[in-house]
Amino acid sequence: MESLETMYERIGISKEVIRLGAGTEASLKERFEAIDRTAEYNQLKVLHAMQKNRVAEAHFSGSTGYGYNDMGRDTLEQVYADVFHAEAALVRPQITCGTHALNVALAANLRPGDELLSPVGKPYDTLEEVIGIRESKGSLKEYGISYAQADLKPDGTFDYDAIASNIHDRTKVATIQRSKGYATRPSFSVEQIGELIAFLKSKKPDLICMVDNCYGEFTETIEPTDVGADMCVGSLIKNPGGGLAPCGGYIVGREDCIEQAAYRLSSPGLGKEVGASLGLNQTLYQGFFLSPTVTAGAVKGAIFAAALYEKLGFSVFPSSDTERHDIIQAIDMKTPEALKAFCRGIQAAAPVDSFVTPEPWAMPGYDSDVIMAAGAFVQGSSIELSADGPLKPPYTVFFQGGLTWYHAKTGILFSVQKLLDANVISL
Ligand SMILES: *Cc1c(COP(=O)(O)O)cnc(C)c1O
Repeated sequence: MESLETMYERIGISKEVIRLGAGTEASLKERFEAIDRTAEYNQLKVLHAMQKNRVAEAHFSGSTGYGYNDMGRDTLEQVYADVFHAEAALVRPQITCGTHALNVALAANLRPGDELLSPVGKPYDTLEEVIGIRESKGSLKEYGISYAQADLKPDGTFDYDAIASNIHDRTKVATIQRSKGYATRPSFSVEQIGELIAFLKSKKPDLICMVDNCYGEFTETIEPTDVGADMCVGSLIKNPGGGLAPCGGYIVGREDCIEQAAYRLSSPGLGKEVGASLGLNQTLYQGFFLSPTVTAGAVKGAIFAAALYEKLGFSVFPSSDTERHDIIQAIDMKTPEALKAFCRGIQAAAPVDSFVTPEPWAMPGYDSDVIMAAGAFVQGSSIELSADGPLKPPYTVFFQGGLTWYHAKTGILFSVQKLLDANVISL
């Protein structure tokens, strides 16, 4: 049998990089044990919900056409609701992506004349067009829904004075983004989100608090619905799809909010009753079942990358010793060559399209070329190992995912190898 070292060497990772990785991994033993305990807890949470709802083989057969009486779909939604300790859920392959899920949740619960408040600063890029911060056809703004924003304080904490001054009669929904996404602020813990929601509700008890939960699911043992969120929203090609879901999104929360969302997603009068699951039920159950473990692997990968690149002298966000509330890791690569080498390493380690060389390219919505690395089973899936960054100083790469910890580790080691090969670093 070949040794583990030989196996890494065969894929293109040298002894010195393997050694560097081993030292880093050893230093993270306690962190990794804590992540495993979170995964263990969340695994039981999902298992309990599946047993309580008597998930059976019959739930795996899908519906077609209108999708009336789809027991598998309805039971899956109850499983999600139970895991999130919420009243109801909408979990549908017809929800295209996270942005779509957020748009449905917002548009469904706001009416002309209402105002949407972000108490956590600028939201995720794609939400700018949903809200109408950037002019866009079909935005909430076009429907007469206004928007207010309270920026975070310079240290990344909530500015309660600014938030309070932005709450008034017309304020109907608050949108709270848990993960920093591709911004530079810190991500919020569920506990912090709970404090924010308590404050918002103390100012306006009937304010609907929606959390953009993208990238956050199962990184902690509680979710925003455990601390007062009225809705929690995310994408199935991120954490909760467990890498298996081929598409879809979810909205989970208060019964009346979810009912509104269902009428918006399908049609007034139809709501949750329609929406064929086709052949996807079994995959969505299985992906959700695997999600706690898959997410844990991705979190380990993020911390491993942070620790390794800190050692190599790069600035990393968050730092390796930061408590994690999502799966995203940012690293300032300092030069275009280093950014490209990093992405080429991630690509070279992929199970799919490993032979492709990523090149920087102009992308809609970006003011500089962008380089992306992804060799995914599901197009655009960012619970799978992926990296991207705009080619402008400080050449930050955003890195996330990994269906298994071992693959995340291989990808990160390969990125270091590419930096070494390109003479960006020396060991
Ligand atoms: C990914 C993400 C979204 C939605 O993005 P999609 O690409 O439409 O799935 C929204 N908010 C945050 C914080 C995200 O990470």
